[in-house]
Amino acid sequence: MSEICVRIAPSPTGYLHVGTARTALFNWLFARKNKGKFLLRIEDTDRERSKPEFERDIIEGLKWLGLDWDGNIVYQSQRLDLYHREAQRLVEMGKAYPCFCTQEELEQRKREMLAKGAAPKYDRKCRRLSIEERERLIKEGRPYVLRFAMPLEGEVVFNDIVRGKIRFANRELDDFVILKSDGFPTYNFACVVDDHDMGITHVIRGEDHISNTPRQLHLYMALGYDLPQFAHLPLLLGSDRSKLSKRHGAVSLNEYRKMGILPEAMVNFLALLGWYPRDQQEIKSREQLIAEFELSDVKPSGAIFDLEKLLWMNGHYIRQKQPEELAKMLVPCFAQKGWVHDPPTEEEWHYLLQLTPLIQERMRTLSESTDLADFFYREPESYDEKAQSRLMREGVADCLLELSNRLETLEEFTVEQVEKTVRQLAAEKGLKASEIIHPTRAAITGRMEGPSLFHLMAVLGKERCVGRLKRAVQFIKIGRL
Ligand code: GLU
Repeated sequence: MSEICVRIAPSPTGYLHVGTARTALFNWLFARKNKGKFLLRIEDTDRERSKPEFERDIIEGLKWLGLDWDGNIVYQSQRLDLYHREAQRLVEMGKAYPCFCTQEELEQRKREMLAKGAAPKYDRKCRRLSIEERERLIKEGRPYVLRFAMPLEGEVVFNDIVRGKIRFANRELDDFVILKSDGFPTYNFACVVDDHDMGITHVIRGEDHISNTPRQLHLYMALGYDLPQFAHLPLLLGSDRSKLSKRHGAVSLNEYRKMGILPEAMVNFLALLGWYPRDQQEIKSREQLIAEFELSDVKPSGAIFDLEKLLWMNGHYIRQKQPEELAKMLVPCFAQKGWVHDPPTEEEWHYLLQLTPLIQERMRTLSESTDLADFFYREPESYDEKAQSRLMREGVADCLLELSNRLETLEEFTVEQVEKTVRQLAAEKGLKASEIIHPTRAAITGRMEGPSLFHLMAVLGKERCVGRLKRAVQFIKIGRL
């Protein structure tokens, strides 16, 4: 078999959709696994809806995911000559014909068909025109489109790699337009001409394109092209099993990037949307994905886009990062808050590097980092409900005051020293250590959950800790901050 060659062919009529990103990834994995080629084609034949900003977003998104393509990007809008040549060939073979019906006529006839209860399809009026009539109308300068002359009988069958045999009766298919009156090709036509011209061996795309495939197969056969293999991937579904849409949350890849999803987590997550690894292990590196990916292990049933799972996976990849690498990624989020400069000063960087491992454990996205790190940069503006009730318990004020006094005398404010001080105080007062640890946490962070108290105190340093403990004592006494 010739070298495997696949492509992703997005239309720049919207931001890069996660479904397109998933399709791109499957094509890329298949190419890399089989040492084949992965090409990028921009299907920009819809002149009204194609926008440079969408194209940029698509290209940036693919790069962000690390889905590098081979060769230059192919732009359909730059290949009109090729489409015209191939369309002309079809006309000469009698497999395509000009259609002069106007939009109004078509709509009128469509309404009549609907009224009769028939499926609205082009009635092939212009297919019946004589050669002389066609020439006369063209000479008159009447605008026309080119339509494919669909065989009226028989059927078309193909073997989909994911779904097995699929058949369509030709009588269900219409004489679809291949070239519009502005000289631009339609999707089905340009797609076939390009897939052939680019040497595509496997067309891997979303199942929403299944109904296009019989039309495209007819074009392949009419043009005398070799047929590629087809694999239609399952649609992405929301957690309620309906088609994934904005209703379920973000659908553009870039929104996940902005949310602080890491590209390696996104790649891992998208890979599992329809593909079932044989060892059932879900966490897989890029290299493992390439080594293990098999199109035959893609299942046709819907693939559920489960945001919770994505967040869980992202948390996993965040925990895998070296603190220094993660700290670098946090700089833009923290700079936005005004907590550090971008780039940070030496002192800011040192502090950031110390606190990073403490929030790393609990972060699921980069953007969650600011909430988790808030108390490292600001005194609590208030104590949350649980923290408040913890502070209001009998004897807490005295205890915290005593603790703050003892902490103040520490020469070295290390994890060990802070811990020793807390435990000693507890022992002297006949309390459990937790009876001091919990209110101390409430006083210093304003809430009851967070990283290890002794560690976070060591990072905050003596001055901040003592100040916050005294402030909490005030609060307990006068009931406000
Ligand atoms: N431009 C089409 C899309 O974005 C390409 C479909 C195909 O892969 O054939 O859906």
